[in-house]
Amino acid sequence: MATAKTLRTCSREHKYYKRTDCPTCPICEAERKPGDGFLTLLSAPACRALENKNISTEKQVSRFTAKEFFHCMVLGPVQFRCLKKF
Ligand SMILES: [Zn+2]
Repeated sequence: MATAKTLRTCSREHKYYKRTDCPTCPICEAERKPGDGFLTLLSAPACRALENKNISTEKQVSRFTAKEFFHCMVLGPVQFRCLKKF
């Protein structure tokens, strides 16, 4: 069943339930988020996509158009609107 959650334990012994095959631990993810609240609006995959492109500030995001975002990232329209509030 694709929707069944399973109990996982990450390399740092956090226990969490995940629905997908994504091995990312949400506790570790939360700890590595920046404190300015910028990337906290986004899902973890979207954060990683931004980080992979060395985008970590709203100014850097503002250089992209919506079309570029949708083309090269995993952001959806809702997340993009969140970013544009900055
Ligand atoms: Zn963890």
